[in-house]
Amino acid sequence: MENEFCKNCDSQRCMKIVAKSNDLNSVTINTKTYKNLYVPEDMGIGGGDYIVFTCCLDCGQIQGEWPLPETDLETLYRLSEDLGIKEN
Ligand SMILES: [Zn+2]
Repeated sequence: MENEFCKNCDSQRCMKIVAKSNDLNSVTINTKTYKNLYVPEDMGIGGGDYIVFTCCLDCGQIQGEWPLPETDLETLYRLSEDLGIKEN
């Protein structure tokens, strides 16, 4: 397996996390929290049953490509606001 270097600081101390969380995830964007979700596919942290990401142990940078476009959760929230649908 090839070494992965941090995109921010070139450190070789990159830690990869693979966590099976199924549909037990809670995601908060700004003040809106969504509970009991599968891992969103469009946030750069894995998807489906698994959280998967790599983080630099020197600078804390999560490895990936950002900024991301509006996520599905943000789109849903924006559309529900537009329609005047209130959620708890
Ligand atoms: Zn780094």
